[in-house]
Amino acid sequence: MQVIRDKNKLFGIAAAVLAIVIAAFAMGAPLMAAAIRQRSSAPVVVVDAGHGGADAGVLGGRTGAKESNLNLKVAKLLGEYLESGGIRAVYTRTGDSMHSHPSVKNNKKRADMFYRGDVINKTAPDAVISIHMNFYSSAARRGAQAFFDKTDEGGREYAEILQELLNRDVNSELGGREYSALSAEKYLLSCSPYPAVIVECGFLSNPLDEAALVDPDFQARLAYVLFQATVIFLQKTALSRE
Ligand SMILES: [Zn+2]
Repeated sequence: MQVIRDKNKLFGIAAAVLAIVIAAFAMGAPLMAAAIRQRSSAPVVVVDAGHGGADAGVLGGRTGAKESNLNLKVAKLLGEYLESGGIRAVYTRTGDSMHSHPSVKNNKKRADMFYRGDVINKTAPDAVISIHMNFYSSAARRGAQAFFDKTDEGGREYAEILQELLNRDVNSELGGREYSALSAEKYLLSCSPYPAVIVECGFLSNPLDEAALVDPDFQARLAYVLFQATVIFLQKTALSRE
């Protein structure tokens, strides 16, 4: 049964890749995407917009933009790309809020993280991507970085694919430095057995990064890079299972 299920999944991912090609010619292609969804079991990705509600994350040094809002914008754009490519997106939040959790009473942040962990584990996704914006004491630092848990081989592969595309399409072009994907100890990366990455999309402490990160056109471009990396990762994972 496992083989059959994976073959269905492989077909779903192949269909998603086809949908990207189609989208390149005619953005959206809703009829074709719908046809693909009917013919296969769609891969599933949990899209986590970091922070939210009372937890704004970091703030833009010049604009005061809340990280939580920027994360959500990029997350929703990524979700739209995934859905248009025949991949199901499950969000950990869709509004500016924190969630409670029955097992955590006096720590809002911890309760919110546990809720997100529950969403991931209940969804049993093919991949998890958590979206954040960075901040550093030196305003000079800039660029986008991908992180994985060192015990998560799938997460490492996903992060490396993502970092390569971020370096090519974002970091090099914007004049920032290139990065390597790094391991990090974060709850979102270790709370489930599913391949997970955190992407820090740029530094809100750097004026040039900040100007880009608050720009809707750049947010869409960034989300498209996250989408491409996710599809490549899902395709590789499905092929390696064959
Ligand atoms: Zn953050």
